[in-house]
Amino acid sequence: MTESMTGTGQSPAKTPGTILQKQKGYVALRLHAVGGEFTSAQMRAIAGVAERYGRGRLHLTTRQGIEIHCVPLSGIEPAVGELEDAGVAMGADGPRVRLVTACPGAETCRRGIFETKEVAARLDREFFAQPAPYKFKIAVTGCPNNCAKATENDIGVMGAVVPAWNGEDCDDCGACEKSCPVSAIGKIDGEYVVDPDLCLLCGRCISGCPREAWTVARRGFVLWIGGTMGKTPRLADRIDGLIESTEELYWLVGRAFAYYRENGRPKERFGRMIDRIGRDTVVREITRRE
Ligand code: SF4
Ligand code: SF4
Ligand code: SF4
Repeated sequence: MTESMTGTGQSPAKTPGTILQKQKGYVALRLHAVGGEFTSAQMRAIAGVAERYGRGRLHLTTRQGIEIHCVPLSGIEPAVGELEDAGVAMGADGPRVRLVTACPGAETCRRGIFETKEVAARLDREFFAQPAPYKFKIAVTGCPNNCAKATENDIGVMGAVVPAWNGEDCDDCGACEKSCPVSAIGKIDGEYVVDPDLCLLCGRCISGCPREAWTVARRGFVLWIGGTMGKTPRLADRIDGLIESTEELYWLVGRAFAYYRENGRPKERFGRMIDRIGRDTVVREITRRE
């Protein structure tokens, strides 16, 4: 490791994912993960590295990653080498795209609308560690329950379905009206209808109907942009409309990130840039087909 990592500043040539600690001469090793996934073999390797080069302790980060704290500068190179041998890469820090978080999604969650880990892995392959005006965070969440906090990330991908009602199968039990979390279902002239301005596209009416009178008319994603937490929290803005293919989703995320790289000022989070330029302008530019 370079000598300049012993002070308060960070060397331009420093190993990615190494964070200087307040204890002089020690770093935390931030590890890469997608959606918090590690294999058991990787976990054993990480634990071994923490015992050999750290103090035998791991820290679980708020972004579903792992940090090994209290590694001396002399331990960075061998520790990183052992981690790489186990298939564990280093995480990102500074003004870059951080690891992509994800909820369990449709693989195991009964409310999941799509396979979150697949989408997260695809986004991670394309964007992880890319330089940006400031830190940039992406989250993928399988349904509007929003367990992965899509609305608190610079980019949030959320599963969504558009429900359709079939009156022939309905016995008018009223359960869907009661179960809709935002009271978007009403009855007009004997027919159940959804207010599209209120509907969260969550699909609860579909899964909760005892007679399968609600079905999935369309399935896809909604995209949130510009969310951030920290000292001045800002919830993300939703781009209107259902995104019905992964190709369109990846295209939109790419457009949003490219727009931020082009227009964001140094140390300006994506959401602050949106506030400065104007939500409507940013959304129009991101969604515009050339
Ligand atoms: S966001 Fe939805 S799919 Fe993901 S864990 Fe929560 S309930 Fe399940
Ligand atoms: S829950 Fe199903 S059966 Fe009951 S009122 Fe709604 S659509 Fe009809
Ligand atoms: S999809 Fe969700 S929000 Fe929309 S009508 Fe059904 S239960 Fe209500």
